[in-house]
Amino acid sequence: MLDEILRRAEQGGFLAHRDLVRLLTVDDREFESVREAAYRVKLREIGPLVSLRGLIEIGNVCRKNCFYCGIRSGNREVRRYELTEDQIVAAARIAVDYDYGSLVLQGGERSDAPFVELIERAVRRIKALPGKPLGITLSLGEQSFETYRRWREAGAHRYLLRIEASSRELYAKLHPADHSYDDRVAALHMLRDAGYQVGTGVMSGLPWQTVDDLAGDIEFFRELDVDMIGMGPYIVHHATPLGREFPDFGRDPAKQLGIGLRMIAATRLAMPTVNIASTTALQTLSADGRERGLLTGANVIMPNIGVLEHRKDYLLYENKPGTDENADEARRKLEKAIGAIGETIRYGEWGDSHHFAERTKKGVK
Ligand code: SAM
Ligand code: SF4
Repeated sequence: MLDEILRRAEQGGFLAHRDLVRLLTVDDREFESVREAAYRVKLREIGPLVSLRGLIEIGNVCRKNCFYCGIRSGNREVRRYELTEDQIVAAARIAVDYDYGSLVLQGGERSDAPFVELIERAVRRIKALPGKPLGITLSLGEQSFETYRRWREAGAHRYLLRIEASSRELYAKLHPADHSYDDRVAALHMLRDAGYQVGTGVMSGLPWQTVDDLAGDIEFFRELDVDMIGMGPYIVHHATPLGREFPDFGRDPAKQLGIGLRMIAATRLAMPTVNIASTTALQTLSADGRERGLLTGANVIMPNIGVLEHRKDYLLYENKPGTDENADEARRKLEKAIGAIGETIRYGEWGDSHHFAERTKKGVK
């Protein structure tokens, strides 16, 4: 039965809910054949290639209070910071100098006018940097349609907004009552309407999460027809409500990594042409976690190029790696690690997903 699912998936067949559940519940021995099938699909659709996005964590001030996140507004232990426009642009220059091709501006959610203007101006200045124009992805939470439109016009062309948990019930357990599931879904639709390539994703290995939830997450990505996916294992942060309620939850790194990798493989098999990120959370669980993500079907890595001094203030979860590593060291290590698994970095390219190209060819917005 597993062989039949894998054969069907490799031939581009549809994976139903029960097929996804089967893929997500394989034991470690069976997982090897799932991983190999997912990797073959990646090689066929994308090649042994990795796209990079230089990651700039622009600030940790956030109006939200998600129960799992270390920089939630209710965490008094956090030293808050905001990069200035000049600091953001200076960090972006690193992406130009390293020929990364594109970058991501990520941060806590703010929607006040000075913030909206800051991002708009920074995006315009980054687009105007001398050299090859960078592709710009934003990951700045829920905003109004007008704000999304302004930032799109300034030059950002991709936006990442994880649904976090596509099950309405699970979402409600992970967020305060005033964080609305429907608003988040509506924001994903607004982003598409504002002309972005849209990315979403979830955390895997969360308290209360079932394998049906995880299969449902992949079905959610597919129904929304997103262009890119950024998923990562949930990792405890002690100074959060979820961390306090379940202090030992997810403390088994091998198990958390296993779930994260199964999600990448099953997503690649269900959506062959999307961009899938191999996220920092995988690397937190295992030193070679990001490489293993690539060998399981992911094709994007986001090396941090932000301001070193503030890395320790952007602790979403515990033991986040790279907080004392400068951009140059990170680049050298990454090149070596990617070369060692026989893959090649696509320098100087925006690295839009093939899925986006197909979608626009079909004339679907
Ligand atoms: N504020 C924006 C938002 O939430 O969309 C972007 C920044 S937010 C820090 C980026 C991602 O971090 C979230 O989408 C969430 O999935 C992830 N994250 C937060 N806390 C986490 C945790 N404890 N373990 C793993 N990932 C976490
Ligand atoms: Fe804020 Fe994003 Fe963290 Fe939620 S996940 S508290 S929106 S930074």
